[in-house]
Amino acid sequence: MSFDPIEIRKDFPVLARAAASGEPLAFLDNAASSQRPSQVIDAMSQCYRNYYANVHRGIHTLSEESTAAYEAARESTRRFLSASSTREIIFTAGTTAAINLVAHSWGSEFIGQDDVILLTIAEHHANIVPWHQLAERVGCRIEFVPLEDDFTISDDVLRDKFQTLSPKLFSFVSSSNVLGTNFPVERWTKIAKEFDATVLVDAAQSAPHQAIDVTRWNADFVVFSGHKACGPSGIGVLYGRESLLDAMPPFLGGGGMIDRVTTEGFTSTHLPEKFEAGTPPIVEAIGLGVALDYLSDIGLDRIAEHEHKLCEAADGALRQIDGVEVIGPTPDKKSGIVSFSIDGVHAHDVAQWLDTRGIAVRAGHHCAMPLHESLGKTATTRASFYLYNTADEAERFVTAVQEVQSKFA
Ligand code: PLP
Repeated sequence: MSFDPIEIRKDFPVLARAAASGEPLAFLDNAASSQRPSQVIDAMSQCYRNYYANVHRGIHTLSEESTAAYEAARESTRRFLSASSTREIIFTAGTTAAINLVAHSWGSEFIGQDDVILLTIAEHHANIVPWHQLAERVGCRIEFVPLEDDFTISDDVLRDKFQTLSPKLFSFVSSSNVLGTNFPVERWTKIAKEFDATVLVDAAQSAPHQAIDVTRWNADFVVFSGHKACGPSGIGVLYGRESLLDAMPPFLGGGGMIDRVTTEGFTSTHLPEKFEAGTPPIVEAIGLGVALDYLSDIGLDRIAEHEHKLCEAADGALRQIDGVEVIGPTPDKKSGIVSFSIDGVHAHDVAQWLDTRGIAVRAGHHCAMPLHESLGKTATTRASFYLYNTADEAERFVTAVQEVQSKFA
């Protein structure tokens, strides 16, 4: 069956509404958070209506049904990532929470004051601040790999950083939330492994859009958020290599993560519960499982191809407009993100004008201040496409940018 965004849109009730201006909504703010299909909304509502109870604890019908649905969501997530075991799938509150978990647990066990943590300059704050906090606690050093002129990083530059810095951890974004640049995860992990570094991949902008195989990637940790992948907010995933998760101390302490508690101390339980203290986001996990199955059923490769076409059209058209600068590589090197600036017009004013045309985009530093600083920008405007966006929406977006440029620049 051919990929038809018009058919797909029928699954997303919110897309039928208009913007405040009365114009039909063109939702191009998917890199911040996507919309969710009725399948996800209904599954969550059904849980609350029919079988909700706390998981893993009760010996009664509702708890057993909730536990089965919660664990089925873990299995869907394992399948989505091609991980080998559900013991490697930890539910967290999101990407940020997952990176903080690693920075606290793995960081405090394995990072000392002489160690270096290597990041790229393209990181989201979620993959910078937890490492700064770790540095404040243990005295380690944070180093950044700069971008080259085409908004990518070559293997040679990366290899040179490994040779000169010998980092203990290389933590990087697989697809930039500003530039859209797709970084070569498998190749970079191979380089990192040659230097015995541990690897964390921030897949917040990849997991919703591209097929991921963590076994092929061979990274030690991979993290992403549900809300960018047609799932609910408040749920995310930490994939961790089992041997590493086993060697790490638990992060949060409380119910659910213990084997035994005495007045003297505690012993923690097995994976994955060891890292899921307290009542987990049960209904959110169930919604996430349905969302990931939904994306897999449509096909991540087909979704990526569709987004690429929209990105190619919008990116190419924007590059033709005088005074408009596209911030990011050419579409063959990126995901469905088009960030840009217009000479003499503030990014927020651009976004505001586009809203009057029914087009939702994002403006600002997109939680990537070091990246913007390295590019000499304070803010950019970003359009980000997803499976339900259409060629017509991409055209409306380009027309609205042309209007801004001719009216305000
Ligand atoms: N990493 C990247 C690349 C992102 O784009 C985002 C969100 O925009 C995050 C991390 C943080 O995700 P969350 O806010 O869901 O924790």
